Amino acid sequence: MTTLVLAPDHKNQSIEPISRLVNAALKLGEEVHVLTLGAIDQALPQAISKLAGITQLHILPAPPSDVLGFDDIAGALLPLMGEYQALITAHTGAGKHIALILAAQLSIAPVTGISAIIDRQVFERPIYAGSLIEQICSQDDKLIATIRTANFEPVEEQRACPIGELTAPPSNKQIEILEHIETNEERPDLSQAAIVIAGGRGVGSKEDFCKLEGFADQLGAALGASRIAVDMGWVPHHLQIGQTGVQIAPDLYIALGISGAVQHLAGIKNAGKIIAINKDVEAPIFKVANYGMIGDLHALLPQLQKALADEQS
Ligand SMILES: Cc1cc2nc3c(=O)[nH]c(=O)nc-3n(C[C@H](O)[C@H](O)[C@H](O)COP(=O)(O)OP(=O)(O)OC[C@H]3O[C@@H](n4cnc5c(N)ncnc54)[C@H](O)[C@@H]3O)c2cc1C
Repeated sequence: MTTLVLAPDHKNQSIEPISRLVNAALKLGEEVHVLTLGAIDQALPQAISKLAGITQLHILPAPPSDVLGFDDIAGALLPLMGEYQALITAHTGAGKHIALILAAQLSIAPVTGISAIIDRQVFERPIYAGSLIEQICSQDDKLIATIRTANFEPVEEQRACPIGELTAPPSNKQIEILEHIETNEERPDLSQAAIVIAGGRGVGSKEDFCKLEGFADQLGAALGASRIAVDMGWVPHHLQIGQTGVQIAPDLYIALGISGAVQHLAGIKNAGKIIAINKDVEAPIFKVANYGMIGDLHALLPQLQKALADEQS
């Protein structure tokens, strides 16, 4: 019995989330194969083949310039599913989309948003913005699941496993992706960054939010935001942290002008140290923060930046 790990996003992808997915797959106690998109001679497939615990890497050919539709990827997976007992992928937009198409085609109830694997059938996932952890038992013969990768550690390296190329099936596009718009490539990806700086309503305006960019760049951090900052149009939605945004797992999270609503905290449960700057001493963010600075962020941030710059020089 074998588990297939699908690495669904072949553009701008790093090895770390796939490594975490492999770790999750190994917890099912079965052999693990990985399927990725791209070309054999690209760096990412070569790196994937060295993830400890996998015994086969399949490649679905897709030149970097190409944009494969989710239904095409699900179409390529469908004939393979006879050989696999389980398919797991990341709980991202692409991962969820492909898992749901495939589950519908196989008449399986997918298990989504898994944060822990108890055994082959029993899983945990957060509900109600992370206030409760739900334990669920999958009754289907096959498992199709999406994983919150931040909850699983990456695996070590091994000698490269065999790599085989699949034949892409004829296109069956029902949804066409017109364009991928690249986000700021210079800053680390929010879901994988070691340091995240995030702003909320307290930042005050779009112009003031730009000042956070300078702070993020000073620390080599990713930039994030609360939902209010997104709703105000100060930053794009993909920077939203929380229940309906990105789940992050940085070593250091710095929250500026964010109250710490339960829906926001749902996204930072796996953060290491938390520093909060807020002018309200009663703000709920201070209940989860390791360090707090109480005051106007517009006054405190320049002081903090200067102190860090002095430290760095
Ligand atoms: C179904 C649902 C899903 C949601 N999903 C998410 C989600 O994924 N992510 C998310 O973030 N929210 C989410 N929300 C919204 C959430 O409930 C809060 O409304 C939101 O997180 C609040 O954002 P905020 O902290 O920026 O704003 P506020 O709650 O308004 O807090 C602003 C804070 O800034 C402080 N402040 C103001 N001025 C300054 C200053 N000059 N200096 C220092 N501090 C200052 C204030 O004291 C205050 O604590 C969701 C809500 C619902 C109902």
